[in-house]
Amino acid sequence: MTEAEVTDVDVQYMPPERRAEVEPPMVEAVEIVRVYETGAEPVRALDRVSLRVPRAKLLALRGRSGSGKTTLLSIIGGLDRPTEGHVVIDGQTVSEFNEEQLVEFRRHRIGFVFQTMGLLPILSAAENVEIPLRLVKAEPSAREARVRELLTMVGLGERMDHRPYELSGGEQQRVAIARALANRPHVLIADEPTGQLDSDTGRGIMTVLRNLVRDEGITAIVATHDPSLIDLADQVIELRDGRIVTPG
Ligand code: ADP
Ligand code: MG
Repeated sequence: MTEAEVTDVDVQYMPPERRAEVEPPMVEAVEIVRVYETGAEPVRALDRVSLRVPRAKLLALRGRSGSGKTTLLSIIGGLDRPTEGHVVIDGQTVSEFNEEQLVEFRRHRIGFVFQTMGLLPILSAAENVEIPLRLVKAEPSAREARVRELLTMVGLGERMDHRPYELSGGEQQRVAIARALANRPHVLIADEPTGQLDSDTGRGIMTVLRNLVRDEGITAIVATHDPSLIDLADQVIELRDGRIVTPG
């Protein structure tokens, strides 16, 4: 059967593995090149990197410091533009968006989690999670329900009113994940989200991400250099000097 012969109804009743084969990927990067011209010598941070991540899968991006992980995540998430190549997310060619379209796209479609969580210290966990909902002007009652749902989802339903300094590092990172998911993004991008945590806590965070992908149907791309976290991924890609060494 060719792709053209598969109908929507067929796809609906397919087992997930088969579905992933016939559906277009949620994230596709094609021949991405990124050259930084900032220094005396140009730096070729990414050199023809291509990848595809099916809907509701978790891709781990590994590689040593300087291998190009952050650059690739920034380009996929629309925070930076490729020098060559293009990015397609959910059927849209993001790398061709103008600035205004990119802001909208990031706000609605992408959730970001960084190594340093970036929570506002004077706000409670609930207020931190609420920020993106305010940015899209969600109704107060809808905001409150969604914040509760999100914090419960990451296991912090009882800690809603705590400030970041009243939470452990792992709990703070869970708040950051809840915040990233506030506007129901299709894609979650996490740049070394366990980098500042001890290995048990880090594994807890990866498990939270793993469960979100399974239960919420989110597509996640997680950069990590922690080999012990790799087995939780559906797909692993390794970067070395801006190139893929292990095709996923
Ligand atoms: P990783 O996240 O794997 O540590 P990065 O994507 O941060 O790797 O960096 C890849 C390469 O690009 C490195 O050589 C780094 O020094 C370089 N680089 C990253 N950002 C910039 C920038 N803004 N200007 C110039 N060079 C950069
Ligand atoms: Mg990095």
